[in-house]
Amino acid sequence: MTDLRYRPHHFLCSLGFEGKGYSPEFTANMTAIVQGRLRAPGGESARITVTVAADDICAPCPSRRMTGCDNDAKIAALDAAHAAALGLAPGDVLSWGEALTRMRALPDRALSQICAPCQWLQYGMCEAALARLKAS
Ligand code: SF4
Repeated sequence: MTDLRYRPHHFLCSLGFEGKGYSPEFTANMTAIVQGRLRAPGGESARITVTVAADDICAPCPSRRMTGCDNDAKIAALDAAHAAALGLAPGDVLSWGEALTRMRALPDRALSQICAPCQWLQYGMCEAALARLKAS
């Protein structure tokens, strides 16, 4: 039994999260997970199982369709790119601390490639969060 289920691209989304989302319910849920658990004291020990279906972040998303998404093609492309970059495969279990270590090891400007289809990339908050992590 693990603490959370995450699809591959949600590791970096959680790193860059600044309280914005797709609906009030989505944002409240992601805030509870990211601020309330991962960034809380002891959060680095949270155990996360990798999945390629709708996960704990997707649960209240207005675009979720059962275990899929209205934007399945885009989400699949994001997941594939992030899984390759972070060395993640479905069923893997890792701690948030291990995920941070893998994110810290990404090359500079990695998000411009692996997040290319994402509408949030243009705002710069995810790239800024990764730069802060790499500098820490
Ligand atoms: S740019 Fe999009 S996919 Fe990439 S980390 Fe940010 S929110 Fe996630």
